[in-house]
Order: sequence, then structure tokens, then C-alpha cells
Amino acid sequence: MKNMVLIGMPGCGKTTLGKDLANQLNRPFTDMDEQLEKQNGVTITQMCERFGKPYFRQKETDIAKQMADAEGFVISAGGGIVLKEENMALLSKNSIIVFIHRTAEDIISGGVRTDNRPFLQDEQALYGLYQERLPLYKKYAQYTVKNKTQAQALQQLLQVAENIWQPKQFYVIGTPIAHSLSPAIHTPVLHALCGNAAYDMQQIQPQQLAAWVQHVRDKNICGFNVTMPHKQTIMPMLDALDETALRYGAVNTVVNRGGKLTGYNTDAPGFFASLADSGCVAQDAHIIVLGAGGAATALITEACAQGAKRVIVLARNEQKAQQALPNHKTATQLETHVLEEQAVFRYCQTADILINCTPLGMHGTDSDFTSLDFIDALPAHAVVADLIYNPPQTKLLQAAQARGLKTQNGLGMLIYQALIADEYYLNTSLNRREMYENIMAVLNKK
Ligand code: NAP
Repeated sequence: MKNMVLIGMPGCGKTTLGKDLANQLNRPFTDMDEQLEKQNGVTITQMCERFGKPYFRQKETDIAKQMADAEGFVISAGGGIVLKEENMALLSKNSIIVFIHRTAEDIISGGVRTDNRPFLQDEQALYGLYQERLPLYKKYAQYTVKNKTQAQALQQLLQVAENIWQPKQFYVIGTPIAHSLSPAIHTPVLHALCGNAAYDMQQIQPQQLAAWVQHVRDKNICGFNVTMPHKQTIMPMLDALDETALRYGAVNTVVNRGGKLTGYNTDAPGFFASLADSGCVAQDAHIIVLGAGGAATALITEACAQGAKRVIVLARNEQKAQQALPNHKTATQLETHVLEEQAVFRYCQTADILINCTPLGMHGTDSDFTSLDFIDALPAHAVVADLIYNPPQTKLLQAAQARGLKTQNGLGMLIYQALIADEYYLNTSLNRREMYENIMAVLNKK
């Protein structure tokens, strides 16, 4: 069973919080500094004065070695534990690390005990330590708890504790489902943040959907992702719909909170989060969308919500393009046209972002763009995105790369929609970039 290790600045409250949490959950608690002093029969201040700081740091590592084999503990680590990679490797073996983030200003204004902390003799020193250690705390922590009051911090810690110590089961449902990448994408995240979580796929036919929803309630399954063909049909079966689900008229994530099933949609936010990785934002942008199906409709709505200046939708059937436009008022200038070579070329001349939302160029289809000359019309700063990720580089993306344009395939959207779903599942904010890298490492091995 995993431990929960609290790290953070001296005076951040990790010992008090750790004790309160352990008491509430009836779990064993250890303060590593207290252990060190007890085992060596001197205070840390005395140890540093008599034997020097490196000696103290070695003793601290000895305690980390002892705690590496602990099971199910709440552990409060010394503020400087992150200074040695070896310490964090030892603790990470069987622990989930939680950063109690209290700023230097907050710690000073809250008063900090310095009698047993030799490095905190003045405020200046505390600011220096904070600057030095903040990146390390962020680097090692799977969770960050940042709250003004101890009571609020404790509430957040209780949520983290639930993620670590309660068994959690998630699924992706749909049909066909066998080739879904969802288990490979969600599992590294759940392994990093939970002590006992599993993510599996479940083939569900349309006529089985209602029974599946009942099964989720009966078995108290924590949540599930929804893919074709259930994204719309599941909506009336849920207890609540988040505004994202209402906005896009579809659900791709369901969270079960105490028997209440709430539907979310993370697809379009996932696309724009992934686009942000290319340093590109929708706000004030001129966007061209090719295609007018389900994905295009969600992306157009999200582009408007994010303040795009102009969105031009090009589809082979202009009536469908019209239907893909949001039916509420928006400041974004919206246009639809028939998807034909000359029109694409003309509108590309002023575009900041071009998004392919058609299956043209997708593995398994025999259709592709007949001409990619429109790529030459795009400005040099334009980003070309393709929702397709198989193949990883469609001919469209190859042409854009050959012109030196920034490009992005659909894998980023797929991963970010999953990361946002996991944030709903676990009720926390993820270090999305780091998790993205972990997931890519798993997918590259497949
Ligand atoms: P959809 O609802 O079926 O819409 C497809 C759109 O493409 C429709 O506008 C369709 O036009 C158009 N289209 C199809 N074949 C075409 C062709 N030969 N020439 C011109 N237009 C054509 O599908 P979707 O769910 O929106 O998905 C669109 C693409 O995005 C797919 O490739 C899908 O795999 C991908 N996708 C990726 C992610 C991700 O996470 N990366 C997520 C969702 C979707 P008609 O309406 O006239 O048929």
C-alpha cells in the first residue's frame, strides 16, 4: 500500500496537516525530522553545529531509506528533502508525493518556528530557500495543495487520500472498442496519482447502454469515457450535464460522485490545450475548419468561446457547414463555404490556424486531398492541425512541414482530452505537460 509523503517549505504546515489527516483516517504518521532527532539523540540544530550540514543531510537520507519500505503511512518530510535526488528516488518507490505549497510571504506572515531549523534565521534566508526549492517541489510532486487556511488544505488532502487509498475503477465504452488507445493513455496518469486504480475497455452495443449505466451505479464504478456511438444517446441517462456537455451536445466523460452521474465533454478543450503547446491560441485568431461533422462542430463552438476573431467552415455540403455553427450569439465572425480548392486557397491567405476535421488522409480510407496547393497560400506563422493521428503525419501535415509551418496531429487532442477527463475523475489539477511526456513514452513503446 502506498504512502503519502508531504513535502514543502519549513513552516508550510505539513506536519500539522499530516497528523490531522492521519488521525482522521486512522493511518500511521511519521515526521522524518522528528525521527532523525529521536534516532540520533540531538536536535537538527545541534547536529549541524557539531558535525556540519552534510552530516545532517546524510542522516536525513538514512531516514529516507527506512521510509522507502513503509506501507500506508502519512509521512512529513524535512523541507530540504528535495535537495538530494537520492532521497526522492527512495521515497518515490512506494509513495505519492504531495507538495504543500505555502509561499514565503504566507509563511512569514503566519509565523515560523526557527529554533529547530538552523537555516531560517532571517526572512531573507527564507525567501532564498523558497526560490531555490520551489522548482524542486514542483518537479517531484504528483499533487500540489495550495490553500490559504489549514482547514482548506486538509479538505484537499482528504481528496488526495481518497485517490491514493480507495480502489478506483474506470472504463472506456463504445463499439468498436478493441483498438482504443484510452487504456494506454489513462493508465500512466492513474498509476502516478492513485494507489489502486485500473482503466479497462468495455464493448457496449447501443441496446446495452442503459444496462451499463445501471451497472455503473450498482457497482459504484468511479467513471468512464464514452466514445462512438454513445456520445449523444447517453446524455438523457445521466443525472447532470456539465456546461461543456451542454455546449457541445455530447458527452465523452462521465464521473460518478456518490451515485450521481455527471457528463462532461473534454474533446474540444483538449484540442485547444494541445494547440497551446504549439504556442498557438484561438483568441483573436482567424481559423479555417475543413469539415462540418461532430468534431468540427465542437471545435467551432470552442473557438468562439475562446474569442476567435473569424472562423471559416469549408465543407463539401454547405448546408451541413451551416448546421455546424453555434446557434447562440457570438462575437466571432462566422462564414461557411463549399470545400473546393480555389476557396480553400483564397481563405488560407489570411489564416492563422487551419484545422482538418475530415477523414481525408486517414489510414483505412482511400480518400485524400486532391491538391495541397492551398498550403502555399498560408502565412509563414500559420499552424496546421490535423485531427487524424493514424498515420501520424498525413500528407497535409507533410506538406505544411515541408513549407516550414508548425504542425500538429490528432494525438495531442486525444491525450489532452484524456488528461482533462482525469482531472475531473480525480478532482485535481495535473501537471499536464509532464503527464503528456509519460503517456508519449508509453505510446512510443506500443
Ligand atoms: P464526422 O462527424 O463523420 O464528420 C466528418 C466530416 O468530414 C463531415 O463534414 C464529412 O462530410 C467530411 N468528409 C468525410 N469524407 C469526406 C471527403 N471525402 N471529402 C470531404 N469531406 C469529407 O466525423 P468526426 O467525428 O467529426 O471526425 C472527423 C475526423 O476527426 C476523423 O478523422 C476522426 O478520426 C477525427 N477525430 C479525432 C479526434 C482526436 O482526438 N484526435 C477526435 C474526434 C475526431 P459529410 O457530412 O458531407 O459526410
